Amino acid sequence: RTVYVNGDFRPENEATISIFDRGFLFADAVYEVTTVLEGKLVDFYGHMARLRKSLSELQISLSLSEANLLDIHRKLVSKNNITEGLVYLQVSRGPADRDFVISEDAETPGVVLFTQEKKLVDNALAQRGQKILTVEDQRWRRCDIKTVQLLYSSLVKTEAHRKGADDVWMVLDGEVTEGSSNNAYILTEDNTIVTRALSNDILHGITRQAVLQCARELQLKVEERSFTVDEVKAAKEAFSTSATGLVNPVVEIDSDVIGKGTPGEVALRLREVYLKASLAAAV
Ligand code: PMP
Repeated sequence: RTVYVNGDFRPENEATISIFDRGFLFADAVYEVTTVLEGKLVDFYGHMARLRKSLSELQISLSLSEANLLDIHRKLVSKNNITEGLVYLQVSRGPADRDFVISEDAETPGVVLFTQEKKLVDNALAQRGQKILTVEDQRWRRCDIKTVQLLYSSLVKTEAHRKGADDVWMVLDGEVTEGSSNNAYILTEDNTIVTRALSNDILHGITRQAVLQCARELQLKVEERSFTVDEVKAAKEAFSTSATGLVNPVVEIDSDVIGKGTPGEVALRLREVYLKASLAAAV
């Protein structure tokens, strides 16, 4: 694979960063994952807008323009012949002598991008539906900033896999926040799509925004509010959204079957409609 590191395209085994990079030592870095479908970037500008927000929250200044970033994304997609998959972009504060106090001196942010080829559309998990386990949400409370501080989510998702489940939904004060790397939804008995409102407790999903738009265009009722695990168990359907997962049905939570125990009609319809809309707008 060809990757991008600090201004250069290189073979992956020749790409290096400093061991003093604060991304490595303090998880002082943010990232974005942009989906590639038919060789095109899905919601590229949405992802770059969120990147800017994450960077500004951490006061990291990046000199690359959106046009530069688009060019790098496109070059990587083309060099690696990606038709379906993703581009990962990470910006760290860069190298500095290890100190909890962030130096005032302008450091040079570390910029790394790589691609992954992946089957996203014809995905077995989407066809079968996900089994979810709930866990307490023990992350820091700035989940709206997309930092690389992903250890808690990685540990609990791994534990869920060991127990035969596919993912976790995290629960804060009795209410679902989101999945390990996706936003969480239910469809209530009266056909209302419910998903937690935007706050510091969840990542503001780019797919969430697009899928809610699709739902409204389909005249579906949408409520942005918190919901409990009991409400998930009583729901007609449940699903998650993320850039690479698209719309992904959920069929079980903590071993309780949701609805009929098969991917829900509304979830599958949203997956189809979202896919079509995102492809049409891809760049
Ligand atoms: N929540 C979390 C915690 C995530 O990591 C992600 C994916 N990065 C999402 C939600 C979904 O966001 P998006 O739709 O922008 O991929």
